[in-house]
Amino acid sequence: GTGLVGNAIKSIKDKYSEHTFIFSSRLKCDLINYSDTYKYFSEIKPDYIIHLASIVGGLFKNMSHKVDMFDLNMRLNMNVLRCAHEHKVKKVVSCLSTCVFPDNVDYPINESMLHNGEPHDSNYGYAYSKRMLDVQSKLYRQQYNDNFICVIPTNIYGEHDNYSLENGHVIPALIHQCYLAKKENRPFIVKGSGEPLRQFIYSKDLAELMMWSLLEYNKWDNIILSVGEKDEISIKDLAITISKAFDYEDNIIFDTQYSNGQHKKTANNSLLLKYK
Ligand code: GDP
Repeated sequence: GTGLVGNAIKSIKDKYSEHTFIFSSRLKCDLINYSDTYKYFSEIKPDYIIHLASIVGGLFKNMSHKVDMFDLNMRLNMNVLRCAHEHKVKKVVSCLSTCVFPDNVDYPINESMLHNGEPHDSNYGYAYSKRMLDVQSKLYRQQYNDNFICVIPTNIYGEHDNYSLENGHVIPALIHQCYLAKKENRPFIVKGSGEPLRQFIYSKDLAELMMWSLLEYNKWDNIILSVGEKDEISIKDLAITISKAFDYEDNIIFDTQYSNGQHKKTANNSLLLKYK
């Protein structure tokens, strides 16, 4: 409940007043520890779970913490699903990401392509841990008929993001960079060439879709939660938009010493549009 999407769900929860929400945090329960997780589930006895907890960060955190991204997320996800099974939770909606799809793939990406080749090297650990969350959910469905499903959001932005210059995702990191650049009257440095393309969804729109996935989407198929293909924008255009908002447009530098990450991961949202 403390991250970007959890906070967005908090902000819309009053629309769902027939339900009681409990928002967890790292302080309330260490999901990487099985006995802590089991104890927490026994205390709160959830009927439904939106599983957003994850060791997560932008491109540069994924590149510098590959073992943690794999190892900690694997343990965390195994504990959450196992405890959900043991406590007979009626439904779990877990969050993957469009960045976990294969690197060499035909565009646009659709839900069927998740395991069709290796992920981009920059987020190899994170991507495989999230792919395993899909595998785990499927195995619980097959062996126990547990209603454990996965949704696949594209890049997300909104209030309560992580503004770390090193570990944050591109939008909060660039807002922070531009703020400092203007304050200190120095160039606004954008990492990489600016050429990569991304689709961005607003956290509160995603929060509504998460609630829909939990309460109304009654299939077991993975579903991409994204804006359309035509809404994809380049990092360069994103940086220009941010610089305009700060009224600091004339001093942008693209620093190509830094990685671009995956060039694009254009996702197709036609399955979602069939329902919404
Ligand atoms: P990704 O979509 O999973 O790669 O996640 P990010 O939100 O980290 O976006 C990475 C893209 O933004 C890459 O093309 C980076 O080169 C570019 N980028 C430019 N400046 C920054 C920055 O300060 N932080 C991050 N995370 N990415 C940046």
